[in-house]
Amino acid sequence: MGFGSVEPSSALYDFLQKSGGCAVIDGGLATELERHGADLNDPLWSGKCLLTSPELIQRVHLDYLEAGADIIITASYQATIQGFETKGLSREASEALLRKSVEIALEARNIYYQRCKDCITDDAGNDKFFETRPILVAASVGSYGAYLADGSEYSGNYGDAVNVETLKDFHRRRVQVLAGSGADLIAFETIPNKLEAQAYAQLLGEEDINIPAWFSFNSKDGINVVSGDSLRDCVSIADSCEKVVAVGINCTPPRFIHGLILSTKEVTTKPVLVYPNSGETYDAVHKEWVVSTGVSDEGFVSYVSKWREAGASLIGGCCRTTPHTIRGIASALHKGYEGKKEK
Ligand SMILES: [Zn+2]
Repeated sequence: MGFGSVEPSSALYDFLQKSGGCAVIDGGLATELERHGADLNDPLWSGKCLLTSPELIQRVHLDYLEAGADIIITASYQATIQGFETKGLSREASEALLRKSVEIALEARNIYYQRCKDCITDDAGNDKFFETRPILVAASVGSYGAYLADGSEYSGNYGDAVNVETLKDFHRRRVQVLAGSGADLIAFETIPNKLEAQAYAQLLGEEDINIPAWFSFNSKDGINVVSGDSLRDCVSIADSCEKVVAVGINCTPPRFIHGLILSTKEVTTKPVLVYPNSGETYDAVHKEWVVSTGVSDEGFVSYVSKWREAGASLIGGCCRTTPHTIRGIASALHKGYEGKKEK
């Protein structure tokens, strides 16, 4: 049900067409894992659950599929070979955990399809829901700053010692492993600066990395990416990389998204994706979200039709959004699957 061997760009257009012109991305993973009792106070963050509670990750993927997500993002955002090795794991075990993050999501998709078959098959035995709803598994790659876990994913400031080669060397093996894992695409998420976008684009050009990808930047002023680099420059890098099938914004307050979509559309004709956070403030010192500084689910969902009108064709949620938020997005996009039974 994924991209198969089709050309990357036409494959996503085809997927979007089958999804009715727009698709729903899932919501926050860490938020949900914590709600189900996981302790993520660790430099590996949600990646820690790959070791301790894979069944919980699968449950959250399933919750999002049942809420209407067409794309689920794996638990590999902060899962790096370097991070696992620091925990004492071997290189082989670390790479196996990366593959496992994708396997968990692929399995969730299979379970979901099976459930759809069980509940949507009509009298003639036709399974329309199954046929008409392709689901993609996106393998998450967080930024170098996410690995450092020092808040630099929200500043984009890596210092003078880090150049494009440093970043390529840091990301290469993880991207190679995920490219061969069975995922449909790689989601390069929360890209904080132009340098890291360049590193990803160059890696995607390497011959042993053969997978489509999306680039998603974050912004804290509604104009530039978090480092202060121009969003247009960053989007242009994504636009000129043929493996990039969509580009946009994540982990950014909803109020900034409309303007950022318009800026993005000025530099690219590729599909635009947005999956904002709840708008709550992140306290990088205490590594926690400041509760009640964001918008309600209703507030978040009230933006969705405007984002769609502005040209976004992939819409979901990032930190602090939940299956409830995603259900609201699917419904706002008239993709509510009303006939479906609640589990
Ligand atoms: Zn986020």
